[in-house]
Amino acid sequence: MRAIQSTRVVHKAIQIQVRVCNVVKSSANTTGLSNACPDCKGNLSKPNMCRGCNKEVLHGDVLKKYTITKDEQRILTTNELEQLKGIGSTMNVLGTIDKDQFKQSFIVGSYYVLPQTKLKNKSQQQEVEQNKIDYAILKESILQSDNMLAVKFAIRDKEKLGVFTVENDYIVLLSLAYPEFVQEQDEETAIKLDEAQKKMSEKFVESIKPIDLSTVTDSYTETLEKILEGKSDPQAQKKVETSNMWSSL
Ligand SMILES: [Zn+2]
Repeated sequence: MRAIQSTRVVHKAIQIQVRVCNVVKSSANTTGLSNACPDCKGNLSKPNMCRGCNKEVLHGDVLKKYTITKDEQRILTTNELEQLKGIGSTMNVLGTIDKDQFKQSFIVGSYYVLPQTKLKNKSQQQEVEQNKIDYAILKESILQSDNMLAVKFAIRDKEKLGVFTVENDYIVLLSLAYPEFVQEQDEETAIKLDEAQKKMSEKFVESIKPIDLSTVTDSYTETLEKILEGKSDPQAQKKVETSNMWSSL
């Protein structure tokens, strides 16, 4: 499998060489609909400024284009767009999938799914209250189920596949890669460990202290910002001893 990066897993003197490879094929994200300028068909930035001819485009004039490859795009007609209307406007429950067969590697994004609270008029108050109960029932069923609920939904003209999960007291939608865009991992990685090696793995886990993830920050970006501000402090990279690394725990 082609690697996008070679790196090492590091903890104290332990260093394990690894390759990082994409789960989702790079061809998966190149297609999709986007807003386009009616004059030069260029991409629009917010608020509807054309990146091609640098003009502001009125909302009613915005076209939809489909990007096939970087160099191949097609503008959709009103008639063609009409045929797409309605698809993805709701979150459709597709069915259940076995929790044991659910692969976390398929997760490509996440969304909060919260009950609707917007009221058009006061008479809908009761409806909103009932909807909160319906939401709670859905949440409870997700919690209680041995299976996961698979859904299809669309965000910004892209149809997505997802599963519901519950976090604290709300529903979270995990968006998944379509299986057809996932490259299968078929390299042999299983190795039988002897008792001494299994002991090492126990020692490894024991040597790691608990951490509060909210204290972890993006040090790469922080250092980059310091460099750009001219406040960088060149530090020597720490050299790590690699011999007898497991016994060093
Ligand atoms: Zn333009």
